[in-house]
Amino acid sequence: MSEITLDGLEKRYGDELAVEDVSVTIDDGELLCLLGPSGSGKSTTLRMLAGLETPTDGRIHIDETDVTDRPAYERTTATVFQDWALFPHKTVLENVAFGLKMQGVEKDERRDRAREMLERVRMTAHADDDPMNLSGGQKQRVALARALAVNPDVLLLDEPLSNLDKRLSEDMQIELREIHAELEETFVHVTHDQDEAFTLADRIGIMADGNLVQVGKPDEVYENPKNRFIEGFLGDTNFVDGEVERTTGDSVHVETELGRTIVLPTGRPEALSAGDAVTLSVRPEVLSIESAESDASSEQRGQPVRTDGSTTNAVVGTVENVLYRGSTVRYSVAVDGTSVFVERTVSDSGAFDAGDEIRIDWDGADVLAFRDDGSRVDL
Ligand code: ADP
Repeated sequence: MSEITLDGLEKRYGDELAVEDVSVTIDDGELLCLLGPSGSGKSTTLRMLAGLETPTDGRIHIDETDVTDRPAYERTTATVFQDWALFPHKTVLENVAFGLKMQGVEKDERRDRAREMLERVRMTAHADDDPMNLSGGQKQRVALARALAVNPDVLLLDEPLSNLDKRLSEDMQIELREIHAELEETFVHVTHDQDEAFTLADRIGIMADGNLVQVGKPDEVYENPKNRFIEGFLGDTNFVDGEVERTTGDSVHVETELGRTIVLPTGRPEALSAGDAVTLSVRPEVLSIESAESDASSEQRGQPVRTDGSTTNAVVGTVENVLYRGSTVRYSVAVDGTSVFVERTVSDSGAFDAGDEIRIDWDGADVLAFRDDGSRVDL
């Protein structure tokens, strides 16, 4: 068992508030990714968990034990660092066995256990090599084996894949997931890369400005971001500023900078009132497009084309440029002086070129709304 509880964790360096307030319970056997931009306090949080930094406020429990004031070597955690931190004058096997030696494990058992760990990370063939002669991916495997060798209850990973190229990083993400599934230990993994977090995490904790802003399963945080920052950070979106024109019993009509009015369905019309400033977000992948050559007179351009009911929205615009991104195509479309990004899979998009007139349709139910202060409107 190794459930971790962080309660009101804070870290100050002089006037610098690196971590302001982090509270979360990490379940036994869970893989939690701390995700956020550079400087948001992820590493500092992890280092406090590892016992490498002392919090200026708050408590850390691993299971029932308060470990806040315990040094790293008295904790049941092990850490893998971004720069691997391997010992240059020891062989790969000696590196992996090092922690066991510190624990006073007897020589033969050390060797057996280190070999077992090297096998787990598929590095047995390099047991006698100098780690400095290994590739980045191989060094990372050795660092992982070294951390796992001491049989920690909690494995802490501080941007361990960010020195690897994209392909290798993606392979290692899959391997890390497999190792986590085999070991059933608690992992806390720090990254600034949302794809990495989405691939690895059971839950993602989003950090901003020293705070843990939202914790949830990957699809939860993506589909139900708590605020505008998270919506913008987790992948691309179109933000459109507007003002509430009116609300009806089941819809909100927002006059926007884009093409006049966008209509959102709502179960809580009281959440907004006429005159409220809002920012709407529509992800590029929920927009569908079709040719508008036949029905787009010049007066219609940039105007919403209400097709039916209260929640289908459409605007007409002109393709500005087309970007092929492997399996998807990204269109930048000029609508009333604003660029709207649309992403379609190559197979379903048809082919549009710069200069084509197209109609963009979307369901108002796919639109999120945020208030002036960035908080999400619960529609
Ligand atoms: P992240 O891991 O999200 O990039 P960090 O936890 O490394 O963020 O840093 C959070 C903030 O704390 C940053 O503004 C950073 O400059 C500051 N910081 C981190 N470590 C120290 C330190 N040892 N001394 C002073 N400021 C620090």
